[in-house]
Amino acid sequence: MICNVCKAREAEVYQPHSGKRLCRKCFIEDVRARVKEESLKIGLDKANKILLAVSGGKDSYVLADTLVSFIDPQKLIAYNIIEGIHGYNRREQIEQLRKYLSSLGIELIEDSFKQSVGYTLDEMMKYSIGKGLNVSACTFCGGFRRKLINNAGRAVSADYVATGHNLDDEVQAIIINLIRGDLLRLIRFADKPIKLSSKFVLRVKPLRKVYEWETTLYAYYSGYQFQELECPYISTRPTLRAKVRELLYMLEDKKPGTLLTILEEFDKLAEKVRNQTQLKEELPTCKICGEPTSYGREICKNCELLISAGLLNYHQNLPMS
Ligand SMILES: [Zn+2]
Ligand SMILES: [Zn+2]
Repeated sequence: MICNVCKAREAEVYQPHSGKRLCRKCFIEDVRARVKEESLKIGLDKANKILLAVSGGKDSYVLADTLVSFIDPQKLIAYNIIEGIHGYNRREQIEQLRKYLSSLGIELIEDSFKQSVGYTLDEMMKYSIGKGLNVSACTFCGGFRRKLINNAGRAVSADYVATGHNLDDEVQAIIINLIRGDLLRLIRFADKPIKLSSKFVLRVKPLRKVYEWETTLYAYYSGYQFQELECPYISTRPTLRAKVRELLYMLEDKKPGTLLTILEEFDKLAEKVRNQTQLKEELPTCKICGEPTSYGREICKNCELLISAGLLNYHQNLPMS
């Protein structure tokens, strides 16, 4: 079978959502073109500095590689956080990542929860369980990760923070937020980011129109030595996300292209909602750490988690007046 695009090379990939058969080269080009289109839509090409939040997983490699195909690598700077999960965070993975990014001309900044929060994720969990809290590791991890990534973006004066979320991740998140009925959170998943605080660096997701199977294949064709271990905390707590993922794969299987359609329709809908919604004023800031928090809150979720786990004393940390 010949590739439907170049009509010269042997086809190796079947793309159910487009109905096309592609050769390796045309497949890579197809993914890059979709990343570029999404990036130009948000003006990523005009940015002076973009912070890439990289985990060392396949999507972070694909993110860096697709972006340098149309953005000067000097404008990109990568940032990695070591969570401090026993047996999961491995030195050689970070060195692989650093080597690869450096081959593209991108510098890597390293950070860790231990260094910037004071505790590893394992320690936060140990204390949290000790206090009888029923909080998942993903809640600790996700919250502090967002905060640290935003701080890093601000520290390097980035115009944008780019993450490696793919189409599957995005649609799962949209459905989960629909189920939870959180409209403000929901429209933040649209293609054009909203800035609710001057302390936030705009977050963008250049891979949001690329299926996870495509990033996997892209990584495989490119020969990346990425982190393949699954986070040990995932298996201990089956979440709503796992169920939503299963449901979405079933739909995609029955009707290829479903995930793309959901995202594209969602973007249109979100645009309308945004135009009609009076966005509230600037988000309040946390009394303890000074970072933005949700409307109506005095202390951010992250600081609250540390207090409940007995890892932060509120009174000791009140700002001097
Ligand atoms: Zn081809
Ligand atoms: Zn706080």
